[in-house]
Amino acid sequence: MSLLDVMAIRSAHPLPRIAAASVKLFKAGNELKGCCPFHDDSSPSFTIFANGERFYCFGCGATGDVLDFVQRAHHVDIRTAAEMLCGGNLPSVDVAMPREVEPGPDRTDEALAIWRNAVSVQGTEAERYLRFRGIHIPIPASIRFARLRYGKRGPEHPCLIACVGSVDNKVVGIQRTYLNLAGTGKASVAKAKLSLGRVAGGAIRLAPAAAELVVCEGLEDGLTLMQELGRAVWVAAGASMLPKMQFPVGVRAVAIGGDGDDAGRKAAAAAARGFADRGLAARTFFPLEGHKDFNDELRGVAQ
Ligand SMILES: [Zn+2]
Repeated sequence: MSLLDVMAIRSAHPLPRIAAASVKLFKAGNELKGCCPFHDDSSPSFTIFANGERFYCFGCGATGDVLDFVQRAHHVDIRTAAEMLCGGNLPSVDVAMPREVEPGPDRTDEALAIWRNAVSVQGTEAERYLRFRGIHIPIPASIRFARLRYGKRGPEHPCLIACVGSVDNKVVGIQRTYLNLAGTGKASVAKAKLSLGRVAGGAIRLAPAAAELVVCEGLEDGLTLMQELGRAVWVAAGASMLPKMQFPVGVRAVAIGGDGDDAGRKAAAAAARGFADRGLAARTFFPLEGHKDFNDELRGVAQ
């Protein structure tokens, strides 16, 4: 498609020449100055700078390029301003249209294959990692272990694999947490947590459904809350997924454990409103002051 060629208009119609028709300009160093045509100006507040490309008024704040000048002077839109400058022949440039984003191939099968081939976390780097994070309760069956490549050709990493279940408790996807080789922390990769499959609306069920559920955004926080509160916890597969979480009919009340920072508090409040709209009793709670999330609080890590 073609768009107005603003660069060509700017160079064919220099701002100083166009402005000089209504402003008496004088040189001041590298700039041109004059009394502003856009406000009642007795001292010269209007300045043309940037090699004559842009103007700025220290009195009224008016600013822009030659097209802005004409728009402002004649109270017209940019296309009319361009026509006033160029006559009928508007220069245009061809631009590539932004690529339409196609829905990616559904990778649920790949997610299910990883889940089927994953093994118990017992004795693996995944168990080691969770112990390092202060989790000492038995690891729920919804968490397994696998060695996976990061990207298509990257090296293999030990991975914690969490199964994402749909509202009718079918496996619809997984969340992978890439770990370092020793299992003492997350791998230093661009994004250590990656979802795969149809995870929207789903939940990582750390416990079977209960009338009252605790929900949160992070797996480590979820395990922390289950350990510390002794309650059934479900975890969203990614930060933005929490408000979309679906619950079976037996679930009546949801307590949202949010992150302690501003973004976390906002996300939790938004999720609570969404759940309440769906007829659930929803409330929020947060880590103690000074901790970003519940796992940091558990380990005494300050914000
Ligand atoms: Zn002005």
